[in-house]
Amino acid sequence: MGNCAIVGINWGDEGKGRMVDLLTQDYDVVVRYQGGGNAGHTVVNELGKFALHLLPSGIFRKGVVNILGNGVAMDCENLWIEMQDVMSQGVELTPENLMISDRASLLLPWHRDLDSLEEARLADKKYGSTKQGIAPFYSDKYQKKTVMAGELLYPEYLKAHLADILEWKNLTLDRVYGAKTYTLDEIMAWIDDFGAKIRPYVRDTGAFLRKAQAEGKSILFEAQLGALRDLDYGIYPYTTSSNTIAAFAGVGSGLPSARIDEVVGVVKAYSSCVGEGPFPCEWFGEEAEKLREAGAEYGAKTGRPRRVGPIDIVATRYGVQMQSATNIALTKLDVLSYMDKIPVCVRYEVNGVETDEFPFPTLQNIAKPVIEYLDGWMCDISGITEWDKLPEAAQRYVEYVEQAIGCHIGYVSVGPERDSIILR
Ligand code: GDP
Repeated sequence: MGNCAIVGINWGDEGKGRMVDLLTQDYDVVVRYQGGGNAGHTVVNELGKFALHLLPSGIFRKGVVNILGNGVAMDCENLWIEMQDVMSQGVELTPENLMISDRASLLLPWHRDLDSLEEARLADKKYGSTKQGIAPFYSDKYQKKTVMAGELLYPEYLKAHLADILEWKNLTLDRVYGAKTYTLDEIMAWIDDFGAKIRPYVRDTGAFLRKAQAEGKSILFEAQLGALRDLDYGIYPYTTSSNTIAAFAGVGSGLPSARIDEVVGVVKAYSSCVGEGPFPCEWFGEEAEKLREAGAEYGAKTGRPRRVGPIDIVATRYGVQMQSATNIALTKLDVLSYMDKIPVCVRYEVNGVETDEFPFPTLQNIAKPVIEYLDGWMCDISGITEWDKLPEAAQRYVEYVEQAIGCHIGYVSVGPERDSIILR
């Protein structure tokens, strides 16, 4: 078994959590390489239903080592809340099955404040942030103005470093936003509360991964969100503030030399999107409400109703290319079972010209979908686990998408449970 990255092809919420949960049985190590607690994976297994935000989805498998890599926004407070929640449902978390990179930078309380303050300042031009502090966190990381988790192991150094950053950060809070500033005592109290909780899990995970690689262990790289939210290749500025694409997996994990043998791209059988930004296939009104209800499309973190529409071949093909996907998991096919005709966005029309290419962000807002229809199957497919048992119209839909996006569909998911999957 080689190494594998599981990534989103679209706007996120494609069902990566269920795929990582399914595939972790074949891997020794699962690493989250970017993002923070701003989105969520939903995993349903024999222990219950879990909304994971920061914890890697391999946490439910005995013997799997789960790592939060250096590319992650390390929010100790939310991680601790999530750890307690998972532990209360019978999942054991120890420094043997959960490790936090000493090089992961800490998301601090003022990052959340600044996220809310900036969204409020932007008012009707807001980005639709989840206000978890992700954008201010990554800005500070690149400005070298936050601290690393490993500093929790050196308290005196950490305190002096935080005092320097605090002086600078208070200038922004006070002079730019007229907001509450922090004292060193306040921030140290927060560190004593939450930093102390995660300290036992902090270690040199890069060294661990290099050793694991040398011993031939298999590693699964887990991404948050999807290709269209990638900071460099997505729908900027409505992207996230980190790189979601598989090419970043090694860098954000602590194993820049990682060889990735397979990239499993997760695509939903229709489109969904949370927050602001261009979404050319968006449906409104009753049609949207019906699909949203059928797919239970409400944010795992925020509960916000997701924007929905038919599958977008243009955006999906672009996502497949950006991720260099080698295999696709098509999820939630069962959700389309109520449609007698299934709409597919096959091209865009931009300024009166039809195109197959995903346009530059400025043009995405004026892109209009060109829709074609495929036959529906109009029956429950949620119990089906063999390709040959799928209704012919459902097979045709999968084959159509496969051909249109240019990548093999190796998994078809027909329900949220671990075994509601068809392997092709
Ligand atoms: P992620 O962030 O990419 O993991 O996606 P989410 O967890 O936010 O969204 C996926 C949601 O769809 C979760 O509630 C899953 O339990 C559910 N889900 C995943 N695959 C399927 C499927 O094939 N059919 C149905 N009906 N639900 C699914």
